[in-house]
Amino acid sequence: MSSDDPLPPAAALAAVQAKIAHAAALADRKAGSVTLIAVSKTKPAEAIAPLLAAGQRAFGENRVQEAQGKWPALRETYPDVALHLVGQLQSNKADDAVTLFDVIHSVDRLSLVTALGRAIDKHGRRPDCFLQVDIGDEPQKGGCPIADLPALLAGARAAALPVIGLMAVPPVETEAAPYFALLAKLARDNGLDALSMGMSSDYETAVMLGATHIRVGTALFGSRS
Ligand SMILES: *Cc1c(COP(=O)(O)O)cnc(C)c1O
Repeated sequence: MSSDDPLPPAAALAAVQAKIAHAAALADRKAGSVTLIAVSKTKPAEAIAPLLAAGQRAFGENRVQEAQGKWPALRETYPDVALHLVGQLQSNKADDAVTLFDVIHSVDRLSLVTALGRAIDKHGRRPDCFLQVDIGDEPQKGGCPIADLPALLAGARAAALPVIGLMAVPPVETEAAPYFALLAKLARDNGLDALSMGMSSDYETAVMLGATHIRVGTALFGSRS
């Protein structure tokens, strides 16, 4: 193996877990208060299997259709997997999302709240929901404008969505910490406990700033083509 080769999956998982534990300890938090979501988008079942074998149980996907193709078979062997939808969701996929996913991180508009509320009633499944915030004022990325967050939260509560927290993706190539701190403040101000923030390049910072859910792809699976 050359020094450029990525770590084998189980070793990569152990390395990420150790970094989470270190960052949590620095911030006087328990490592167990952070859920590591292995973001397996674009990766085939063969790449996911070693992480399942190593005990990883929370996985993230960004497309409903791709997840429908991969996860039902894997779940037959690992029924205790928790599937997280981390990508943007179209309202016409709300039924599919509610039946497949345990947690939805990308609730960002009232039309989607309405569609998810209907799907939850219809299927009797209630995935935990994060409201996604457009924390860097980049509308193309998805996420609700900060100013609209109170109205979105009120709408989600009126539709009986199980909202547990806020999610955001900070602008690329900037220091993420101020955006993580801002998301944590917005969650506090709105009485929400969970924070989905931090990816491969910045999850330790996110843990120090209170992330309860980190979404890590590349650091576990290697780069995506
Ligand atoms: C792809 C993706 C991730 C994981 O990104 P990495 O940089 O590979 O860790 C996290 N969150 C979202 C919303 C993503 O789309």
